[in-house]
Amino acid sequence: MTTVMIPSRTVHADVIVRGSWYEIDLGAIRNNYQQLRAHLSQNVKIYACLKRNGYGCGAAAVAATLAAEGADGFAVASVNDALSIRNMGVALPILLYPGAMPAAGPIVEALDLTISISSIDELEQWRAAMTRIRAFIKVDLGFFRAGATPMETERLLAAAYMHADVQVEGVYAHMSELPSSRPSDALDQLARMQAILGAASSRGVRPSIAMMSSTEGVLRHPDMDFDAVDPGALFVGLPDTDEPVRPLLLRPALKSICTTLVAVKRLDGSLGAVPEIPGFKVGMTLGVLGMGWGDGLPRSVPNGAEAIVRGRRARLLPPTHLEHLRIDLTDVPEARFGDQVVLLGGQGDQNITHDEVASLWGTDMIGLYGGLRDHIPKIYLNP
Ligand SMILES: *Cc1c(COP(=O)(O)O)cnc(C)c1O
Repeated sequence: MTTVMIPSRTVHADVIVRGSWYEIDLGAIRNNYQQLRAHLSQNVKIYACLKRNGYGCGAAAVAATLAAEGADGFAVASVNDALSIRNMGVALPILLYPGAMPAAGPIVEALDLTISISSIDELEQWRAAMTRIRAFIKVDLGFFRAGATPMETERLLAAAYMHADVQVEGVYAHMSELPSSRPSDALDQLARMQAILGAASSRGVRPSIAMMSSTEGVLRHPDMDFDAVDPGALFVGLPDTDEPVRPLLLRPALKSICTTLVAVKRLDGSLGAVPEIPGFKVGMTLGVLGMGWGDGLPRSVPNGAEAIVRGRRARLLPPTHLEHLRIDLTDVPEARFGDQVVLLGGQGDQNITHDEVASLWGTDMIGLYGGLRDHIPKIYLNP
């Protein structure tokens, strides 16, 4: 286990041994959940989407935190994430988005997971692999990804309801945008969902949970709440929209990305001429960080990228390596082997913001979280 709880001071050996870690603020996760809960009507369930290991923050710890707050269930795309949540002792429903294959049937049953079904072929393959199935029927309302088309959905629901071994717990869709989307598309998707539910009700095959709202939906379209919502990015503090109808006050869960100076030296003349790379100077003090692009840092050093050492900003130097990255310590002459270095977050009175990192690293906020690596230990603040 690579989780660490402070301030109980049980710092795991991984942090000490590796010298690099992420600080994840579970207080922010709780705040973000409470903000959402306060804006939803009491009968709307919250299935927290914790895909990609809880957006890099650790599905297990985030799930345990949200379960304690009263979350109704979780949704993930990989069986591994579901397993890590179950291993935390969380017994709430877990919906698997498309991704798991029927070969995983025995594990899915042992972990008591709910699968997604988008077609009659999927239904039959899963039935052949499991003795009893909990399922959500997945519908594509216009995102052109997984899910039955609105026209096929009626037939699929009818087929799923026919089988005693299949418990249809819900019907859901992912309301989202493509680069080509127009503002009216969200409302078209809502109208399709309403039509599907109306038809299903009249035939007696309307599951008790209808769900289509992720972060953008809960922030902008309260009329998409239905019986449950499954936002994800929201819990780690990423608002998906500039014009929220629900003004939630969200806080970022990723507090810092920290590493250590694993080498410091002055470039004397015995090394020969310094490389002809911007930033290298004769007589400079060179530092080496114990993190590289294999640890989720960008593949090439962006111009202007800095880190904080001894409370001062210092320039990162190209190129990056799998496990190391150079830094110009000339203006931080007291820096020493073993000093903590902050790539995101605060140290002293300096602060490197999420926005700065996202724009310098050539990504966006969701890309920053999605790029967090599972092998980097996490320190959980405010457990
Ligand atoms: C990713 C995802 C979500 C959550 O989306 P956010 O934008 O992170 O809130 C919800 N439902 C499905 C099917 C998804 O794939």
